[in-house]
This record gives sequence, C-alpha cells and structure tokens, in this order.
Amino acid sequence: MIHASRRVILGCCLAVLASDWSPMYAQDVFVLGSLRVPPATTASGTLEVSARGSEPGTTIPVTVINGGRPGPVIALIAGVHGQEYAPILALQRLRSALDPRTLTGTVIMVHVANVPSFLGRTIYYSPIDGKNLNRVFPGKADGTISDRIAEVLTREVIARATHVVDMHGGDGNESLRPYVYWTTTGPAGVPEAGQQMALASGFDHVVIDRERPTDPSAAVYLSNTAILQGKPAITVESGFLASTDEASIARLERAVAGWLRLLGMRPDGPSPVEHPIWIDRNEVLRSDVTGIFFPAVERGHTVAKGTLIGHVTDFHGKTLQEIRAPFSGEILYVVLTPPINAGEPVAFVGQPKP
Ligand SMILES: [Zn+2]
Repeated sequence: MIHASRRVILGCCLAVLASDWSPMYAQDVFVLGSLRVPPATTASGTLEVSARGSEPGTTIPVTVINGGRPGPVIALIAGVHGQEYAPILALQRLRSALDPRTLTGTVIMVHVANVPSFLGRTIYYSPIDGKNLNRVFPGKADGTISDRIAEVLTREVIARATHVVDMHGGDGNESLRPYVYWTTTGPAGVPEAGQQMALASGFDHVVIDRERPTDPSAAVYLSNTAILQGKPAITVESGFLASTDEASIARLERAVAGWLRLLGMRPDGPSPVEHPIWIDRNEVLRSDVTGIFFPAVERGHTVAKGTLIGHVTDFHGKTLQEIRAPFSGEILYVVLTPPINAGEPVAFVGQPKP
C-alpha cells in the first residue's frame, strides 16, 4: 500500500526548468515516459511500474536534461541497489549543476532505479520479491516487481540512450575501494568505446570483465543489456558501507564530467586517466556456509596467495570455514558486517596486470 500511495504523489511531480528555449536550435523534443522535454530544458518526473496481481507497482524517479543541440544520449542510472547511496546523491547534485542550454545531446538520469529496495533499506535483494535487480535483465513485463522494474528500464531508458552507465558502490555490507568494470564482449566497436568511457571516468582501477552473457534475452546485467544492443556501457563503483561521504560523491561527479567531455556533450571536463591499474584476473570469493562472518582484511589491502580473507562461524562460535586468497592481488571489496548466507560473496580480489 505504501507503494500505491507513493505512485500517486510522485506521479504528479513534473517540473520544467530553464525553459528559455531558442528555436534556432535543431534538437528535438525528447520523450521519456510521460515527459516531453523541449530542447535546452530540464524536466523531472517518474516512470511507472505497474502493479500485477496482488503485488504493488512502484515508480522510478527520472530527469531528462535535454541540450540545445543534438548529440549523444547518455543514461546515468543510480540506485539499482538501494543502499548504494553515493551515486544517488551525485545525480541529485548533477541535476541542478548541468545547464541544458550549454549541453550538446541529452542526459537521462535515473535517480533511484530500485525504489522498493531504497525505501526498504535492503542490500542486494528487493524487499518485495527477494530478487537482485542486477541479475534479472532485460526483465519481463509479466514477472515479479524486480523483473518489471528491469523491463521498464530496458524499454524506456536503455532503448532511448546511445551510452549507458550503471552507477553502483559498496552495498550496505560491502567495504569497497572505487573501480570501474570494463566489459570486453559485445558487437564490433562497442568494447572499444566502453574502454574509452572507463578511462574517461578518471577511476584509477579498471576491472576487465571477459565473462558476460552474450544472449540479449538473458543479458542478466543492466550494462550488458545495453552492450548487447550495441550501446557502449560501463558499471562504476564508488562508496562503501552505505556511506554518503563527500569523496565518494565527488568522484562520481568528476566521472560524469569526464564522460560528457569524451562524448563531446560539453567542451570542458577532466582528462581521462592515462595509466590505470588494469585488473584482469579477478574472483568473487564466497562463503559455502551460513553464519557469522569475521573479516581479516580491509578494502584496498594487498594480499598474497593464501592470505586469510576471513572466517565464518556458526551462531555459537565454532569456525565452519576459512576463506583465503586464491592468488595475490588487491581487496576490491570485503564484507564487513556479520550476517552471511551460503553462496554469498565475502570479498572480491583482483590481480593488477604487470
Ligand atoms: Zn550494486
């Protein structure tokens, strides 16, 4: 019921700013859901995810910053995981900071992709259907709430974009050092363009992802859905343990400025990173058992093959499993809160390329 009432409230929140559009520009009105956004203006509203059976629907808050001149359409998507706050806060700042009158092309912002998870304060999983939104793409209209959110994002946002960024951070349980995933698979030219986006983000660590699905109907991940449609896309990670710290937010603001410069959407912006640390070999380490996790490392730590990452006990204190580094590398994230279910990640270790 909470979701039903929110839909009514948010559905009418349409604001149009900076409407001094000059007809000398050729950029078209940009349509997103019920929004019709003239050139050189910014507008916000919501995409609707309909109810199905006894399950409520939800809304997805969005902004379109439509530039004065035609150009690329970059979709910036935050809040796929509801406790990854730095991207959500970065987009809210950028909404007012980006001037549509001096922008070429269009920026689509999805402020909170997964409102049920955000308001329900859940990590990984939706409080409604228990699914991880970033494992159900491209989604389906006749599925549960996470499937339906994914379907709306695929149909309304990814379909209208030329470039896509999925913005994440350490979830509420994850102590994470910043990095960007670069996917090496996809149609001709797309991985190369994605690599340029990864470098333009300014992040100093780039995780090379060679193992994404290649079937568009089972893309699984948001960014992979875009890639399999021929659209360059990356996933960035900034923030840790549900933090709202300035550095994690500012890093994302800088990254957006880098992408806008790369794509020619703004004349200014920071330079791409020149010599990033490429993380080729990488592995998510998982617990085999359910219980209480005790980490032995912190984010950014360097580990040797065999270094103890942490151990899991039962609820009475008996050690059930020790998790050790399978190769030398760096801790990209480690779970720092006690609950652990069998099969869940405890850490992500990556080995820098020489
Ligand atoms: Zn995430």
